[in-house]
Amino acid sequence: MRMSIATVCLSGGLAEKLEAIAAAGFKGVEMFENDLLSFNGTPGDVRKMAVDLGLDIITFQPFRDFEGLPPEKRARAFARAERKFDLMAELGCDLLMVCSNVAPDCLGGIDRAAADLRELGERAKARGIRVGFEALAWGRHINDYRDAWEAVRRADHPSVGVVLDTFHILSRKTDLSAMRSIPRDRIFLVQVADAPTMDMDVLQWSRHFRNFPGQGDFPLLDFMAALDTTGYDGLLSLEIFNDQFRAGSARRLAVDGHRSLIYLMDQFSTKTGRPSSAPALPPRSACLGTEFIEFSIDDTSRPAFEKVLSGLGFFKAGQHVSKAVSRWTQGKINVVVNSDTEGFAQAYNITHGTSVCAIGLRVPDAKATLARAEGLLDRPFRQPVRPGELDIPAVRGLGGSLVYFIDPASDLGRVWDIEFKSVMDAQPNAGAGLTVVDHISQSMHYEEMLTWLLFYTSLLDVGKTAEQDVLDPGGLVKSQVVQSADGAMRIVLNASQSTHTQSSRFLSEAFGSGVQHIAFATDDIFKTAAAFKASGVELLTIPENYYDDLESKIEIAPALLERLQAHDVLYDRDEQGEYFQMYTQTFDERFFFEIVQRINYAGFGAPNAQVRLTAQARMARAPGLPRR
Ligand code: MG
Ligand code: MG
Repeated sequence: MRMSIATVCLSGGLAEKLEAIAAAGFKGVEMFENDLLSFNGTPGDVRKMAVDLGLDIITFQPFRDFEGLPPEKRARAFARAERKFDLMAELGCDLLMVCSNVAPDCLGGIDRAAADLRELGERAKARGIRVGFEALAWGRHINDYRDAWEAVRRADHPSVGVVLDTFHILSRKTDLSAMRSIPRDRIFLVQVADAPTMDMDVLQWSRHFRNFPGQGDFPLLDFMAALDTTGYDGLLSLEIFNDQFRAGSARRLAVDGHRSLIYLMDQFSTKTGRPSSAPALPPRSACLGTEFIEFSIDDTSRPAFEKVLSGLGFFKAGQHVSKAVSRWTQGKINVVVNSDTEGFAQAYNITHGTSVCAIGLRVPDAKATLARAEGLLDRPFRQPVRPGELDIPAVRGLGGSLVYFIDPASDLGRVWDIEFKSVMDAQPNAGAGLTVVDHISQSMHYEEMLTWLLFYTSLLDVGKTAEQDVLDPGGLVKSQVVQSADGAMRIVLNASQSTHTQSSRFLSEAFGSGVQHIAFATDDIFKTAAAFKASGVELLTIPENYYDDLESKIEIAPALLERLQAHDVLYDRDEQGEYFQMYTQTFDERFFFEIVQRINYAGFGAPNAQVRLTAQARMARAPGLPRR
């Protein structure tokens, strides 16, 4: 199938949109009339611009309120169509997209609509143009693709076909089985959009909340299966109306769009075992865990950071063979401290200050993961490999940081032995009982959230949770988790439209999106807390009120409550299990660590988020402390 995208999906002026669409690798574009009208040039100029960019203008839309008009208005509608045909001739576009009529005075009747479409087809044919008819979910009389098809079938004209739009069909949960009776050559265009499940007016839902395939909840694979029964192999075009997209970067969103279609085709061919019309990709990579977290930090900040690490029970186990990079470890956790004065980490440090510049993920086959990432248009990262170093596959992640792939099968699995000399005088400290990385929390701009959701879910074998609202004292934070089924990898995506939330403050402090906190797991939170106390780690103080409230909400043994309070540990319980959390104070006004103990508990302590965020906001504002 040929992939295309509508200009309406993206922000910016028409030239900017077309450039972004071409740069993302699309060959086709749907031209929205408003984009053309607001363009400072002739349709001929637009045509030339598209040709120069290698783009085919596959349709011109929308042509509204056409079929079933009362006689006095009918002639005017045809005159309007003729003017569009003139314009399309200049534009070099041969398909007019007609949306079903929403006008209050339009008249029903399939045969009336068919007669109108037939006459329109006859006029179009004379101009070498075709007409595609789409049922809007809120159409006055025609609001179901089966009726649109029936009108097209009865119009019985070679220049008239049907347009299938997943939003209009799936938002109404229309039965898909009737699609198989549509001959494939009568389907002129298929438009795809996903959307989150929402209980709201379908018009508002469509105009503001559509998103790219894989970003919402629609059963698009069911739609693809139904479409497949027709043998259709024509155009698949994204038509997304979304407020976040209109606020985002056209270039980034065009790539997201293309990625979403590649991923949709990939999922369909994986599900059916049939070859895809898109190039085959290695399967979504399982995620076996977080192999390392890399911090970029300059020499000035490093001593304080290393003090935090040793306080948390880490010890320095290795020094890089050729760079100012060290490895700190505890349990199965590796923290890489990069203070090298050249290369990626240093550049990252200059822009973002002390921060997580890379995450290393453990996967079964790092090369295959990179190949899949490239197939999905993720941006690979390469830097010169010095003698004694491994070429570790990597792609650009959030905020320009890196995601490395490490596998146990190749030399990559021995990276710590190959690239690092063990530090002979290192005294493995007794540790604080930290075992693995439980989750990584990333803060980002609100309009980036869907980008990174798609990035992780298309590349890795992870699922997503429902989006949640978290109450920060500075406003609402949206939070969504991507995680592997066994919990080996969990990434929490956070974003806020308020500039006063912790999530947003992080973006301004750190000059962009990135990792805001890392949660390490322990098997015994109180043992870990005791070790922290012994080494002088300062934890986030939790107010007494929290524990009074906890006692009233959850039946809890007095001794446990006392212990929680004594160690500033937050607690949650659900039907399956228990969750314990404590937080370090914030380092460099940027990031912090969380320690969690899970006992058959799958969540993230959502009921505690507000108390924690408020405690952190209080710390950030506390006078006399070396923080804001
Ligand atoms: Mg549509
Ligand atoms: Mg957390």
